[in-house]
Amino acid sequence: MTIYNPPAPEAVALQPAGTSGPRSLRLHPETIALHGGSFRFDPATGAIAVPIYQTTSFQLPGTEGADKLFALEAAGHLYTRVSNPTQDAFEQRLAELEGGAAALALGSGQAASAFAVLNLARAGDNIVSSVGLYGGTWALFASTLKNFGIEVRFVDATDPEAFARATDDRTRAYYAESLPNPKLEVFPIAEVAAIGRRFGVPLIVDNTAAPLIIRPLEHGAAVVVYSTTKYIGGHGTAIGGAIVDGGNFPWADLPARLPTLHEPDPSYQNKSWIEKAALIDFHPYILRIRAVLLRDIGAPISPQNAFLFIQGLETLPLRLRQHNENAVKVADFLHRHPKVSKVIFPKFQTGIAAERAGKYLRNGSFGALVGFELKHGREAGRRFIDSLQLLYHVANIGDARSLAIHPSTTTHSQLSAEDQLAAGVTPGYVRLSIGIEHSDDIIADVAQALEVA
Ligand code: PLP
Repeated sequence: MTIYNPPAPEAVALQPAGTSGPRSLRLHPETIALHGGSFRFDPATGAIAVPIYQTTSFQLPGTEGADKLFALEAAGHLYTRVSNPTQDAFEQRLAELEGGAAALALGSGQAASAFAVLNLARAGDNIVSSVGLYGGTWALFASTLKNFGIEVRFVDATDPEAFARATDDRTRAYYAESLPNPKLEVFPIAEVAAIGRRFGVPLIVDNTAAPLIIRPLEHGAAVVVYSTTKYIGGHGTAIGGAIVDGGNFPWADLPARLPTLHEPDPSYQNKSWIEKAALIDFHPYILRIRAVLLRDIGAPISPQNAFLFIQGLETLPLRLRQHNENAVKVADFLHRHPKVSKVIFPKFQTGIAAERAGKYLRNGSFGALVGFELKHGREAGRRFIDSLQLLYHVANIGDARSLAIHPSTTTHSQLSAEDQLAAGVTPGYVRLSIGIEHSDDIIADVAQALEVA
C-alpha cells in the first residue's frame, strides 16, 4: 500500500480571487460565470467540472507543515467546516463575478447576513440598517442580535443622511438590501456608502434580489451578501449563502472603528486579524469569518451544495436575461389590466425611486420581482393565488419557475394591518417572482387567475 503524504505546504498567500485562470484576457460576466477562479481542471483526473470533494477531513502533511496550516501561515484544507476545495472553487468564481477580492460561502443566506455583521460588531456595539429587509433578517436584527447585546438602529433609506444621524463611535457597519421587496425601491448605495466612508463605517449590501443587475461594490459598498438559495442556485434545490469582500475598504486603517479586526486574538498567537492577513497577503475581513466564526459557530456550506451553486453560477447571466425580459412583459400586462390598481415594479416608479432605479439597475433590467395590488383587496388576493395553475404558491423568490404569494395572508400575516401597510403590504398585494418559462405561458396563467380574482 502506498501511503499518501502530501508535501509540506509552502508559506504562500491564499489565492486571492480574480488573479488566476486565463487571466491575460479581460472576461465578461458570461465567461467568468464558467471560468472564474483558479480551478481549470481537476489535477488528479483532468475533470473539467469542479468535483464534489465529499470529505470531512484532509490528510495533513508532516507535523511541521501541519503547524503552518493550523497557524494560517500556509494555504491548504484541514476540515470541511472551515474550507473545502469545492467550496473554494465556488467562492473564487463568485468573488470574481461580483468584482470582489474574496468570498466565503455558508450554509444559508441567514448565516451570511449574521456572520457579515458578527464579524464586526460585539455586545455594546451597534449597526445602522435600512428598514427595507427580508423578514428573516429583520427578526435576526430586531431580536437575536439584540439578545446578543448588539443594537440595530433602523432607518428609512429615503433619506440617506438618516444613516449619518444614527451613527456614533460604536457603529460598526451599515446594512441594506439593494432591491428590497415588497416596495422594490432600489437602495441608494453610493450615497450611503459615501456617508459610511466619512465615518470609516463599511456598508454591507444584501444583493440577493439583483445579482449582476446591481453592482454594489462599484458604488462603494464594502461587502456584498447573498442568499445563494435564490437566483445564484436558480433551480430551487439548495439552501446557501455567501459573503463577498470588495477589497475596496480600508480595513487596515481604522483601528478604533474596527476593533474585532485590530485587537489581538488570543486564539491566534495574540496577533490581530489585520496582522494575520498581512502575513499571508489575504483579506482580513473574510479571513476572520473563516478562522473565527466558522470555527466557533459552524454553518458551513456542504460540498454538494457548493457544487450545485457552481452549476447555478454557470448559467446565471443567461437565466437572468430571461427572468428580466419575462418580468417586464408580465408587469406591462398587469399595468393594463382593469382588475389591477397598481403595479409595483421599478419600471413604473416615479420621483426619487425612479431616479435610483435608473442609476443602479443595469442593462435596462428591473429585476424579476413584480408586485401588484388587486382592486378588490384581500379576498381577491386569495382567489388569485388559489386559481393559479402554472405558478407555484411558494414563500420563495429567484427560482427558475414562476412563483406567487399573497403576503397579507402569509409572510406578513402576523403583522397588524397598520404594520403591514407600513411595510408596503396592502390587503390586495400579490408578489410574483417571474421565472424563465415562456412569457406567454406565464401571462396566460396570470390572466386566467385574474379572471377569478
Ligand atoms: N436575504 C434575502 C433578501 C432573502 O430573500 C432571503 C430569503 O428569502 C435571505 C436573505 C435568507 O436566505 P436563506 O433562506 O438562504 O437563509
